[in-house]
Amino acid sequence: MNPYQDMFEGINPDITPEDPIALHLLPEGSGVGRDGSLWIRGQKVSDLAKEFGTPLFIYDEVQIRDRARQLKNLFGADVAYASKAFLCIAMAKICADEGLHLDVASGGELAVALRAGFPAERVVFHGNNKSRSELQLALEVGVGRIVVDSFNEIDRLEALAADRGPVKVWIRVTPGVEAHTHEFVMTGQDDSKFGFGMMSGDAKLAMDRLRTSDSLQLVGVHAHIGSQIFSLDSFVKEVEILAPFFASAGVDELNFGGGLGVPYLQGEPRISFEEWASALQDGARAAGIPSSARIMVEPGRSLVAPTAITVYEVGTIKEIPSVRTYLSVDGGMSDNPRPVLYDSGYEVFAIDNLLSFRERKVTVVGKHCESGDILVKDGRLPSSVKIGDYIATPVTGAYGYSMASNYNKVTRPPVVFVNNEGYRLVLRRETVDDLVSLDVE
Ligand SMILES: *Cc1c(COP(=O)(O)O)cnc(C)c1O
Repeated sequence: MNPYQDMFEGINPDITPEDPIALHLLPEGSGVGRDGSLWIRGQKVSDLAKEFGTPLFIYDEVQIRDRARQLKNLFGADVAYASKAFLCIAMAKICADEGLHLDVASGGELAVALRAGFPAERVVFHGNNKSRSELQLALEVGVGRIVVDSFNEIDRLEALAADRGPVKVWIRVTPGVEAHTHEFVMTGQDDSKFGFGMMSGDAKLAMDRLRTSDSLQLVGVHAHIGSQIFSLDSFVKEVEILAPFFASAGVDELNFGGGLGVPYLQGEPRISFEEWASALQDGARAAGIPSSARIMVEPGRSLVAPTAITVYEVGTIKEIPSVRTYLSVDGGMSDNPRPVLYDSGYEVFAIDNLLSFRERKVTVVGKHCESGDILVKDGRLPSSVKIGDYIATPVTGAYGYSMASNYNKVTRPPVVFVNNEGYRLVLRRETVDDLVSLDVE
C-alpha cells in the first residue's frame, strides 16, 4: 500500500500538522516526481517558477473546465461564474467556451468580459451602487440580466431604459439568513448593504413597483447569502425563505447565488458540487418550488479556488528563539490579502520537497511594510527549507489575484495556465512602466 495514499484520496482523520501537504488541496492535475517535486499537468512547477519568476500564480486549466462542466451537468445551462473571484480575458474565454453565464459587478468587469468576446446576453450585472454610466453601458451592449438592488437604482434604470424595449431584471433580496461564515462575507442577513430586505417588506414593495414598470420587466428573483459557507443548512434555509416570495413574484428564474465553501486547510471538510446541488434542488422541491422553475447558481470561489497555487521564493529567515520563526517571501498581502482581510488560513509547502514531513513551524510573511502582512500564520515546512527555495500556498485561485494591489509599488505577479497540451502566460508580470503609467508629469 502506498503510504501516501491518504494524501491522494482526501481527508485523513489522523493527519497531523507535520504531515506532508495533503495532495487533495493541490490542483487536480498535480503529481509528484521521483525526487519529490511538484508537477502539474506534466509541467515541473519549479521550472515554471524559474521561467516566469516569483511570485507566480499557476492555474490548472483542465480542472477549471472540468469543474465548470460538473456544475453544468448538475444545474443545466444556468450556471453563472462570479467573475470577481478571478477574471482576465483568458478566464472569460473559458467561461464562454464552457457555456457558462458570467456575473459582473462593475463596469470594469463588464469591459473585460466584452474584450474577451463574452456574449453580453449571458452576462448578469450585480452591484449595490451601479452608476448611471455603468447601467448605460449594460443597456447599450445588451447585458442579459440586470440585478436591481435598491429603489434608487430602479429609478436610475427606469430613466435610462425609458425609450428601449423592456429591460429584463432580477430583484435581489436579502432573505435574513445568517450564513455561518466570516462577518465580512455574510450578505444574506437583514442588516446588509445589499438588496431589498424581505423582513422589512422592501422586497415586496420593490416587486410591486417592478410589476407596474413599463420599461423594466421582472423575470427573476436573486439572493446570495455569503461566501465560504460550509453549512448546507444555510442554503436550505435560504431556499425555504425564498420559496413563497418567488411564488408571489410570478416569474420563473430563481437564483440562489454562490457561496459554497472550499477547504483551504488540511482536515477541513469538502462539500461536493453534487451535495450542494442536491441541497438546493431537493430543498426547492420540498419548499414547493415548481419543477418548471429555472434554478440558477453563481459560484465564484468554489469553481476556481482549488485550481491554483501561488509560488514564492524564500528570501529571509528570522528566528526569534522561543517566540517564532519568520520566513519572508517575495510577495505577500499585495498578491493575497485574504489573511489580512479575513484572518484566512493557508497551508504552505516546499514545491521541490513534497513528500517530506513538515517539522518546522514558521510564519510566512510578505515583503510589505506592515507587521500584519502575513500569508501563513504558524505554517509548516520541512526543516530543510532554506533561502532561495520555492514554497507555495495552495487553493489561491479565488480572491487572490482579483484582490491584488500594488502596495509598496510591488508589481503584480504573472498568471500561467497549464493544461494537457502545455502551458501559457495569460497575465504577464506588471512592470515598472505599468507602475508609472498613470502618473502625469
Ligand atoms: C461574490 C458573489 C458570488 C460568488 O460568491 P462565491 O462565494 O465566490 O461563490 C455570487 N453572487 C454574488 C451576487 C456575489 O456577490
